[in-house]
Amino acid sequence: MNKNEIYEINIEDISEEGLGIGHVNGMAVFVKDTVPGDVADIRIVKLKKSYAYGRLEEIITPSLDRVEPVCPVARRCGGCTLQHISYEAELGLKKNKVLNVLRRIGGIENPEDYLENVYGVCRTSSSDDVRQEFCPYRYRNKMQFPVGISDGKPVMGFYAGRTHDIIPIDDCHIGHEINKFIIEAVSSWIERCDISVYDENTGKGQLRHVLTRVGFKTGELMVCLVVNGKKITHVEELLDYLKSAVEEYKEHLIKCPDNSNDIDIKLTSVVYNINTKKTNKILGDETKVIYGSEYITDYIGDTRFEISAQSFYQVNPIQTEKLYGKALEYAGLTGDETVWDMYCGIGTISLFLAKKARKVYGVEIVPQAIEDARRNAEINELENVEFYVGKAEEVVPKWYEEMNDTIDVVVVDPPRKGCDEKLLETIVQINPKKMVYVSCDPATLSRDIKYLSEHGWKLNMYSVYDQFSRSMHVETVALLTT
Ligand code: SAH
Repeated sequence: MNKNEIYEINIEDISEEGLGIGHVNGMAVFVKDTVPGDVADIRIVKLKKSYAYGRLEEIITPSLDRVEPVCPVARRCGGCTLQHISYEAELGLKKNKVLNVLRRIGGIENPEDYLENVYGVCRTSSSDDVRQEFCPYRYRNKMQFPVGISDGKPVMGFYAGRTHDIIPIDDCHIGHEINKFIIEAVSSWIERCDISVYDENTGKGQLRHVLTRVGFKTGELMVCLVVNGKKITHVEELLDYLKSAVEEYKEHLIKCPDNSNDIDIKLTSVVYNINTKKTNKILGDETKVIYGSEYITDYIGDTRFEISAQSFYQVNPIQTEKLYGKALEYAGLTGDETVWDMYCGIGTISLFLAKKARKVYGVEIVPQAIEDARRNAEINELENVEFYVGKAEEVVPKWYEEMNDTIDVVVVDPPRKGCDEKLLETIVQINPKKMVYVSCDPATLSRDIKYLSEHGWKLNMYSVYDQFSRSMHVETVALLTT
């Protein structure tokens, strides 16, 4: 195989990152924008010792799972990786990803026997109807658009894959449709009021990013402008443009009701965030209100959240509600239980659990998240929940040693690297009746299941949830018992 040469290959599989995989002379070649089942001409762009990367030149025979991307910049944008694959096929890939690692890493012989269901992204939050119509778009409640210069002109859009080149966009299909109108409004404001935009090379220019958040249950909208300076100019004009954008969206809703997220949008909060540092971090530390409130409210289930520009909040609230609802179902609480929610973040799961348990303890490493969690408990008037800041693997053993209380159910929702072994060791020692494992990486979930199964635990059942359609990410919630 030679670099820059073109080869015809059959795409047989897909990688963790969503790259199609085929073979040339027995060597694996990873090719972006291809689908298992494609026959394609590809050009070798990078040659390593035991594998290579290719670029798609031409599809010779398309896979039956291939579809036309809905977004014109899908191939260049660093966001979606699976727009050229049908959603049914995407769900199949995700299901297989989980089954494969449970078998290979988890040592579970027939993982399909324990799988309850695969839940695809839908518009509605009803969790009992699994055959509802899937819609892999318009699910994100938060968008962050970089603003910059391209060919000497201000642009707003997304970074191209692996670079900071901004691809101008007028709509992002995974975001709420209101964004289309906001992008237009902010672009007009930049042009009419001659707003300077940030240049990453020189560190000069005012506007850096536009962040939007929508409460999917409440319709409350936040627009946050990230600026390189202490002040923001032409505020009145900005507000006029934003208010008109909301009106235009409403008119659009009446005209094409099927094509939209059909909630009544209210411009609730316009803020600006000060970020004068030369950094890749989007937000600075200080946020000021221009209009309305400093936060929007939203609900997951009937738990209320106040979300400011800086707060962490689940980006697909509809799927989150279903996934956490399943975690609650697996926990099977009757009202008498003591529950630990490890890696609790802002306490979303803890608060879900607290409504059905005697007492819930949450532990999380980020102090700001715990502050939010405590505030969220207060907003929801839940008094049977207590939060600790620290590493779960340190806080829980210490707590257990000092309190020597029984723990009935343990819930874990760790980051991609999974649970610390020391925490698993402690859980085995505590010996709760149930463990509910919410996972964003099936490989580490499988590793942890393997550890637990060597210590007397077994996988009872699990469900797969797609929270980030058109990307390779997949969530799993599993019930383990002794
Ligand atoms: N269920 C949470 C989100 C969990 S994401 C919610 O709804 O908000 C995983 C969380 O684990 C993150 O908030 C991260 O900060 C936290 N984390 C990472 N390592 C940790 C550790 N060693 N101990 C406790 N929390 C940790």
